[in-house]
Amino acid sequence: MQIDGSTQIVGVFGAPITHTASPAMHNAAFAALEMNWTYLAFHVEPPNLRQALFGVRDMNFRGVNLTIPHKILALDIVDEVDAEARRLGAVNTVTVAAGKLRGFNTDGYGFAKALKEEFDLSLKGKRVLVMGAGGAGRAIAIKCAIDGAAKIVVANRTSAKLSPIAHEIGKTKTAFESIKLNEVAAALANVDLLVNATAVGLNEGEGFDLPDAVFTPALAVYDTIYRPAETALLRQAARAGAKTSNGLSMLLHQGAKAFEIWTGLKAPLPVMRRALRAAVYGETT
Ligand code: NAP
Repeated sequence: MQIDGSTQIVGVFGAPITHTASPAMHNAAFAALEMNWTYLAFHVEPPNLRQALFGVRDMNFRGVNLTIPHKILALDIVDEVDAEARRLGAVNTVTVAAGKLRGFNTDGYGFAKALKEEFDLSLKGKRVLVMGAGGAGRAIAIKCAIDGAAKIVVANRTSAKLSPIAHEIGKTKTAFESIKLNEVAAALANVDLLVNATAVGLNEGEGFDLPDAVFTPALAVYDTIYRPAETALLRQAARAGAKTSNGLSMLLHQGAKAFEIWTGLKAPLPVMRRALRAAVYGETT
């Protein structure tokens, strides 16, 4: 589609941003549906986020995604925050409607949808151990509680990040426990799903000190990292017999939900998945 005076603009703000695969995924969807829309990536530093979002509104963009480090900052900038985004404590999708900025969070949805797709697993009644209490770990742990998990255990290097999660989960019927990272192995005996939401594994070979015996066929291991495609955690878990998935499915489904929020159309998932795999792994099929 030729860019012209009617082209509708969406995009992503982040710092850094050059690694993002979201333009490939969304632009493939627009092309497949022959929509005159384009998705662009913008490097925005945190002190400029407010002005940049006002620009989105004033220049009549249809919306933007927000990634590191903007998801929490945006809560105090947008005019309205959707209820789930408020509970998850982060905004990753912004729309512009009637001159107002509205914030949503599609990461929680993307995570839950990915579990269904990868493991045919629904969170209701499950016992989940989340490693990580940064933006992703917090949103995932709280989404598990919102979706009716029986118990959430969160392990994080920095314990100060655990109390806001405990507070939010305390409003639900889900049991909550916080542990140290070196207590994960012992806690895994009573867990259905292990999630890595730390940055550990982003560098090839980096991993956790866990014994093979914890990775039983009854355990599903979801690593939110998708680059590299197989972290040391996933490699060990798969070899030792657990079910495994990397984080590309979460990225896909959060993007698909954002697409649907902006356009009101059903996201063309196979097209978006292919574009994402081509952008992230160089696949050409
Ligand atoms: P963040 O807010 O910066 O949080 C980083 C997390 O990693 C914190 O829990 C931090 O612990 C932990 N961490 C960092 N280095 C560590 C180390 N050496 N040892 C132990 N823990 C360490 O980042 P985020 O946005 O939550 O992202 C976290 C992960 O999720 C990243 O790997 C990212 O790729 C992934 N992610 C994936 C998707 C997806 O769609 N698949 C979406 C968002 C994020 P401290 O609190 O102790 O610093």
